[in-house]
Amino acid sequence: MRVVVVGAGFGGIAAAAELLRNGMDDVTLLEAAPEPGGTWFHNRYPGAACDVPSHLYSYSFAQRASWTRLFSHRDEILRYARETADALGITPRIVTDTLVTSCVWDDTDRTWTVRSRRAGVAEERVADAVVLATGQLDKPAFAAVEGMEDFRGHGFHSARWDEGYDLRGKRVAVIGTGASAAQLVPEIAPVVGHLTVFQRTGNWFLPRRDRPMPAALDRVLRRPWARRAWRQLIYHALELITLCVRHPRTAGRVGALVSGAHMRRQLPDPELRRKVWPDYPFGCKRVLLSSDFLPSLRRPDVELVTERIVRMTAEGPLTEDGRVHEVDCVIHATGFRTNVFMLPMEVRGTGGVSIADAWADGPRAHLGIMVSGFPSLFLMYGPNTNTSGGSILFFLEAQAAYVRRALELARRSGAVALDVRPEVEETGLEAVRARFAGTAWQACSSWYRTRDGRNVANWPGYMGEYARRTRRPLPAEFTFLQAR
Ligand code: NAP
Repeated sequence: MRVVVVGAGFGGIAAAAELLRNGMDDVTLLEAAPEPGGTWFHNRYPGAACDVPSHLYSYSFAQRASWTRLFSHRDEILRYARETADALGITPRIVTDTLVTSCVWDDTDRTWTVRSRRAGVAEERVADAVVLATGQLDKPAFAAVEGMEDFRGHGFHSARWDEGYDLRGKRVAVIGTGASAAQLVPEIAPVVGHLTVFQRTGNWFLPRRDRPMPAALDRVLRRPWARRAWRQLIYHALELITLCVRHPRTAGRVGALVSGAHMRRQLPDPELRRKVWPDYPFGCKRVLLSSDFLPSLRRPDVELVTERIVRMTAEGPLTEDGRVHEVDCVIHATGFRTNVFMLPMEVRGTGGVSIADAWADGPRAHLGIMVSGFPSLFLMYGPNTNTSGGSILFFLEAQAAYVRRALELARRSGAVALDVRPEVEETGLEAVRARFAGTAWQACSSWYRTRDGRNVANWPGYMGEYARRTRRPLPAEFTFLQAR
C-alpha cells in the first residue's frame, strides 16, 4: 500500500507513525516548508508557546521523560516533533520544499496521482491512499480593511515573523487580540518604543501559570505510571472547558465567574476593564490562557484601541474616531483562513468531482476524516475536529488510528480502496450539527463558523466522545472498491 501524506506537522507525523508501527512502510510525507513541524515551524513570534500543558500536548506513544516547562515553548515543541520523527524512522520519508498542487483519483486504476512542485520542477507520485495533513491554521488571514498597500511602514503576519526586523524602540501596532497576540504582546511590549493594540472583540481569559517544570514534579513524572496519571488529570481538567462551552447557562456561568475573577484581579482600572470585557458567553471564542497579556495592557507605553480600523493610511491605521495611529510597523495577529482547509489545492475524486464542488455548502467530512466520493483519501484535523479545550494531538492520534484501521479493513476485504457511504456521512453530520444547538459556540461569530453560522471547525463534544466514535470503522459504513 503506497501512502502519500501531505504535510509533516503533528498531523502528518501522527499518521506516518501509526502506519509504520503497523507494518505499512511505503509512506512518503510531502512538506511545503523547508523543514517539518507544521504550525510550530511557521509560528516563531516571540512568546510562541502552547497553552495545553506539555504532557498532554505530546503523543501518547512518544512520551518524554521530562519537559523543561509546564507549558512548552515553541522551540521545545519543534524539537520534540523532530526527535519523534527521527526516533520512529519518519524523517527519511519526509520530502521537504514540496508544494502539493493536486491529488486526483483515477477511476480506472483506482489510485491517486499526487502532483507537486519542488524547486520549480513538477513532480508526480502515484499512491493507493492519500492523507491530507495540512491543518486548519496554515494560511495567514489579514484584516479586511481598505488601503493595506498604502501603508509606508513595515508589516508582517504573526505566523510569518520577520526575524530580520528590529522592533527595538519602534512605534508598533498589533492588530488582533486572539491567542497569538495574547502571547506576543507581553513579549514585545518591553522592547518596542510604543505599542498600540487594536482589539475588535474582547476575550475571556484563564490563568496560564507558565514556569520551569518544578524539580519535585519532574522527578515524580519520570515514572511512567505517574506520567500517565498526570496526563489523565490534565485531560479531565481540559474536558471541563468543553463542559462550560456545551452548557453555557450552568457550567459556562461558573467558567465566566472564574475567568472574570482572574480578569478583575489583573485589571484594577475600571476603564481598561470595560474596554477589554467580552460581550459574548464564556467559550464562544477560544478562551485565552494567559497571565501576562492583560497586565501588559496596563503599561504606560501600551495603548489598547477598541475603535474600529476603517482603513490603512500611509502612516498607520485610521480608526472610526478619525484618529490616524502613526506607527513604524504593523503586526497582523489576525489569524488564519481556517474554513478552506487544504484548498486551493486541487482534489478530485470519483467522476472527476472536485472537493471544492463537494464542499460548495461548506467543508464536511465523516468524523472529519473521510469525504464520500473520495476513496481512500483521509483528512487529519479536518472539518469539525478542532477543540476549544482539549489537545489537538489527542484528536490527531484518534484520526491516525482510524486511517490505519480503515486501510486494514480495505485490505482484509480484498479491496484496493474504500469510500465512505454518502448516507453515513450525512447522518453523522446531522448528529454533529444537532449537538451544537444551545452551546456557547453558537452565540457569537468566530473563526470556527462559516458566514451562514455553521460551525465547520469544531468537534461539538468531548475528546473522549471523539475517541469512542473513531475507534472502529465498521464495514457497513463503506463501499469497497476492488482492483479492476
Ligand atoms: P485568531 O484567534 O483568529 O485571532 C485573530 C484576531 O484578529 C482576533 O482578535 C480578531 O478579532 C482580530 N481581527 C481580525 N480582523 C480584525 C480587524 N479588522 N480589526 C481588528 N482586529 C481584527 O488568530 P490567532 O490569535 O492567530 O489564533 C488562531 C488559533 O491558533 C487559535 O484560536 C488557536 O486555536 C491557535 N493558537 C493556539 C495557541 C496555543 O497556545 N495553543 C497559540 C496561538 C494560536 P475578532 O475576535 O473580532 O474576530
